[in-house]
Amino acid sequence: MPDADAIIVGGGLAGLVAAAELGDRGKRVILLDQESEANLGGQAFWSLGGLFMIDTPEQRRMGIRDSHGLAQLDWMGSAQFDRPEDAWPRQWAEAYLDFAATEMRPWLHAMGLRWFPVVGWAERGGGFATGHGNSVPRFHITWGTGPGVVEHFERLVREHVAAGRIELRFRHQVDHIVMQNGAATGVAGTLLAPDSAARGQRTNRDAVAAFELSAPSVIVTSGGIGGNFDLVRKAWPADRLGPPPKRMVAGVPAHVDGRMIAISEAAGGHVINRDRMWHYTEGVANWDPIWPNHGIRILPGPSSMWFDAEGNRLPAPFLPGFDTLGTLKAILATGHEHSWFVLTQKIIKKEFALSGSEQNPDFTSKKWSEVIRSRILSGKRATGPVEAFKAKGEDFVVADTLAELVAGMNRIAGNTLIDAARLHAQIAARDAQVDNPFAKDAQLMAIHAARNYRGDRLIRTAKPHRFLDPENGPLIAVRLNVLTRKTLGGLQTDLDSRMIGADGQAVPGLFAAGEVAGFGGGGYHGYNALEGTFLGGCIFSGRNAGRSDFVA
Ligand SMILES: Cc1cc2nc3c(=O)[nH]c(=O)nc-3n(C[C@H](O)[C@H](O)[C@H](O)COP(=O)(O)OP(=O)(O)OC[C@H]3O[C@@H](n4cnc5c(N)ncnc54)[C@H](O)[C@@H]3O)c2cc1C
Repeated sequence: MPDADAIIVGGGLAGLVAAAELGDRGKRVILLDQESEANLGGQAFWSLGGLFMIDTPEQRRMGIRDSHGLAQLDWMGSAQFDRPEDAWPRQWAEAYLDFAATEMRPWLHAMGLRWFPVVGWAERGGGFATGHGNSVPRFHITWGTGPGVVEHFERLVREHVAAGRIELRFRHQVDHIVMQNGAATGVAGTLLAPDSAARGQRTNRDAVAAFELSAPSVIVTSGGIGGNFDLVRKAWPADRLGPPPKRMVAGVPAHVDGRMIAISEAAGGHVINRDRMWHYTEGVANWDPIWPNHGIRILPGPSSMWFDAEGNRLPAPFLPGFDTLGTLKAILATGHEHSWFVLTQKIIKKEFALSGSEQNPDFTSKKWSEVIRSRILSGKRATGPVEAFKAKGEDFVVADTLAELVAGMNRIAGNTLIDAARLHAQIAARDAQVDNPFAKDAQLMAIHAARNYRGDRLIRTAKPHRFLDPENGPLIAVRLNVLTRKTLGGLQTDLDSRMIGADGQAVPGLFAAGEVAGFGGGGYHGYNALEGTFLGGCIFSGRNAGRSDFVA
């Protein structure tokens, strides 16, 4: 008799969802992870818990009219599917849109998830109605952020553990998928030495023993490649984005190492859209790192002025929070790898969100009193974590005058590329448009449009003001680095999350879900993401794997 009905490789969100579903069906499951128990939940624990959902009560209460049709137009305009191998990804995108517009919220709500009442407007787009971007706010921040998503699936899994249906085995690193007559029959790997490192820290890879486990179904939920810069650079689409940066910060823990991808390919899995990835342009080095080269992404509101490394303002639509990959391409086309935000204290207070559960202790705590204390009763100060970056972050300059600001920027960059007079001229010209209701500055027009949304006016978009008026200061500059995060392509799967080989046929007994499967199908985002679709895709594809009749 095999050791289990199904073996799941990876205890991140996708693995937990698949395990919970299989447990509900009475299946015997072994869930393996190379990390220690402290890391259960994987990347999702660190996430902001933002979920892409369509036409929800939260949206309606904020006056947002969304629909399946509008979301579909946005998704397809962003994905720009253009390859024969986009057949499964496109089907996954359609299926997720149906799910996100119907069953997703009630199902999660019944499980206990709740969302912050102000729905966020992420990826506002590339400037065309037919192109990339969210026409309306859809980013639902889970109350409790990432841990508030993970806890519900972890609870279900632990209930099944207590009932003897699921077994959790940590420090089990899978090195090989065992195949017999073309079908998966189990996995083999290395038992790693115990490690007491805290969650998110790099752990040892010291081998203690070998192991082999058997099951007629093997579900790979091992995450993407963002923690492995060699794999990121190898797959980097230089033709579309420009050359891969030499300096990057890591937006994910070291366990996001991509090792299982080649192991799955060796077993018959087929990777498609390897060159599609989702890395951010607004990364800052974490002054208090948890994982190696730890970077934090700034989720910016629309008001910071964005300059390239030479101090030239980026043109619209490359505005903060609009078009991630378009902006990445524009930055790399300058021949430099970093860019700059220049802003005021008023903007940082209202507009800087740092992506990560630990950077938002108020939301993560699920306590309204904390949210009110840190965001509303804090006077001119931003949240504690944002103020800490201002004081200690190596990419931050805070100054009372523009001359001091520029000196600080050039000191950080180690050059003299920013010319104070030229920067002053651009900021002064922008300031002169602030009181003009007919302004021609595209960023100011975008700010006015953002403030038409009640949620933005309330907590996300500062009232337009003059940067050079000391009343609004101090002035702040932030060096922005490329931050690796998500893998958009991945193992090709059908809607049952079965791995589909290069011949178009399902590989018997092999499944993949979550980021390793490009969040569904091998890349259901196509070229661009609308945000909140990563956790959403892990939940959906993990659920489909766990519900599949093909799991023995
Ligand atoms: C800071 C941060 C903020 C984010 N914010 C959001 C957000 O707000 N909204 C959103 O939609 N997405 C967000 N994301 C992205 C999202 O969290 C991830 O894409 C998602 O959690 C990936 O889940 P997963 O289960 O596919 O993989 P992972 O979470 O990476 O889990 C994979 C697991 O597999 C294990 N593993 C890998 N290889 C092996 C092996 N060979 N043997 C055994 N075990 C193995 C790993 O140790 C790991 O525990 C964020 C990510 C980060 C890091």
